[in-house]
Amino acid sequence: MDKVGLFGGSFNPIHHGHLIAARAVAEWAGLTRVVFLPCRQPPHKHENDLLDGAHRGEMVKLAIADGGTSKPACQTALRSIFSFSDYDLTRQGPSFTIDTVRHFRAELGRDAELCWIIGADSLRELPTWRCVTELVEECRIITAARPGWTTDVWDDLRQAFTDDQIARLRSDVVETPLIDISATDIRRRISSGRSVRYLMPEEVICYVRENNLYS
Ligand code: ATP
Repeated sequence: MDKVGLFGGSFNPIHHGHLIAARAVAEWAGLTRVVFLPCRQPPHKHENDLLDGAHRGEMVKLAIADGGTSKPACQTALRSIFSFSDYDLTRQGPSFTIDTVRHFRAELGRDAELCWIIGADSLRELPTWRCVTELVEECRIITAARPGWTTDVWDDLRQAFTDDQIARLRSDVVETPLIDISATDIRRRISSGRSVRYLMPEEVICYVRENNLYS
């Protein structure tokens, strides 16, 4: 069965925290594919420094590229289930997750299992998402527990979800390696001239440098 993880975000820029979380979720849930979906306009963030979507999309593509046949199998095998979609970049208006999930459901049919991947910091905000009670019925929400994650979130979620829905959300929390990297920190480091080496793939660092981004 096709088991697809959809990983949306601003990816401004994409970094190793995203990639490691996606890989951990994919291994844990047995996903056949993870689709990275940078969004044109995040519904819950008003980033003043949101880079043009075309650049963010290019960086995602570079980060997940297999690098051809020159790479050893142990590297390519891990990455080959990652793919890119510009669906949330090219449509107008805010990228509401419910719309994206319905688009992929229509495209993949009823037999595919659809999962939406989030970081634990996004779990707390779920009640504010558009049509969230429908969303949790239409796909699995898999949470990658990232630094700053606390378990006191469940009581807050009771206002929006039934006990059964909360039980499902809880059972889909994945312990991922604690990678304390954020795009905000990366942007600050670049604008103040500090190194971002080891925080994101070399190909992305080169792209940032060549295009003089975030400086
Ligand atoms: P910013 O710092 O600009 O807010 P971000 O990296 O937190 O950026 P997004 O690019 O929108 O935000 O992240 C996409 C998804 O990846 C979100 O669900 C976020 O919670 C998750 N995420 C981001 N960084 C990590 C990390 N280090 N580990 C696990 N998940 C992460």
